[in-house]
Order: sequence, then C-alpha cells, then structure tokens
Amino acid sequence: MNLDCDVVRDLLPLYADGACSPASAALVEAHLAGCPACRRLHREMTARLEPQPAPALRPFRGARRLLLGIILAAAVLLASFLVNFGGAWMGDRASPGHLAVTGLYTVFWFVFASLARPFRPLLRVAFVLCLLTAVSGLLGLVGRLAGGGYLLAFCAVFASVPLYGLRLFLDWTWLYTAAAAAGLAGAWWTGRGLRRLRRETAA
Ligand SMILES: [Zn+2]
Repeated sequence: MNLDCDVVRDLLPLYADGACSPASAALVEAHLAGCPACRRLHREMTARLEPQPAPALRPFRGARRLLLGIILAAAVLLASFLVNFGGAWMGDRASPGHLAVTGLYTVFWFVFASLARPFRPLLRVAFVLCLLTAVSGLLGLVGRLAGGGYLLAFCAVFASVPLYGLRLFLDWTWLYTAAAAAGLAGAWWTGRGLRRLRRETAA
C-alpha cells in the first residue's frame, strides 16, 4: 500500500456518497482503475450503502394477515357450500344465483392465491384446496364414467358444490372435468409459488 492508497481510502467514503469534488472523484476513479485492493474496498463500501431489502413483515402484522386470510378463506368456503349445497343435492339445473356464487368463489381463490404468495401457510391452504378440488373432480368423473355409486358421488362433493353454478351450462360429467382441470391448474400455480418461496428462503 502506497501513499496514493492512503489518500484514496480517505476519500472513498465521500466518493461512495457522491460528495467528492469532480477533481477528487476523477483522481479516485483513476486510482481505482489500477488498484485492485482499493477497488475491493470500494465495492464493499457501496454494498453496505445499497438499500437493504425491507425486512419481512413484522411477525405481529404477518400473523394478523395470516389469521385474516384463513378466516376469509373459511368464510368463502362455507358461504359457497351453504348457497350451492341445496342445488347440488337436488341435482337440478343451477340458477344464475348459483352461477354468481361460483364465479365469486373462483375469483376469490384466484386473488387469494396471488395475494398469499409471500405467506407460506396461506399458500398451503390454497394449494390443499386446489388439490382437493382436483381429486374430488377426478373421483366424480370416475363415478360418472364407471357408473356412479354413492361413495364416489360423496367424494365428488368438494368439486360439485363450490362449482355447482357451472351446471347452468354443463352436465355433471363436464362439471367434474372442469373442476378437475381448474383444481390441477390451481395446484400447479400455487405449487409453483411454494417452490419459489422455498428457493428464495434457501438462497
Ligand atoms: Zn490503492
């Protein structure tokens, strides 16, 4: 380390802050270009000055949002079941009211899964529900194609009730197909979010 290095290192904090005079800045730059040791020091200094990523939401706020999210999810699930269950049980054609509930239910889960991305437990709730819908739809489909049975019809409740509004356009077979497809797409989408979250926390 020579005298130049000493002078430059005295100037570096000012230079990193952008508070040097143009002449001093030119001097520092010229020295940095030829001195790896000072260059490393400068890099470390600017890395410290870079704005740090905002800390994750404070635990209390995170917990409150988590609780709110889970209560909201449970409420929407319950509401959809309450409104649609009668229609689904009777097996009649759905009404526009059922369709509206089904539409709200679908939009809710899409928004929920998008907003839940930074929160692993919420994302897991969405993932499990999507998977449940997919499995339930597939079981309903098996029941339809293999000739039914009460057990399979019962297993298909998770697909048939929340999405019952689709019965306005679709018969049961296509409703189960749509439910299975939507469930798989949702599980893929939320599963991708979970994997990304795991990668980010591992990095
Ligand atoms: Zn130097």
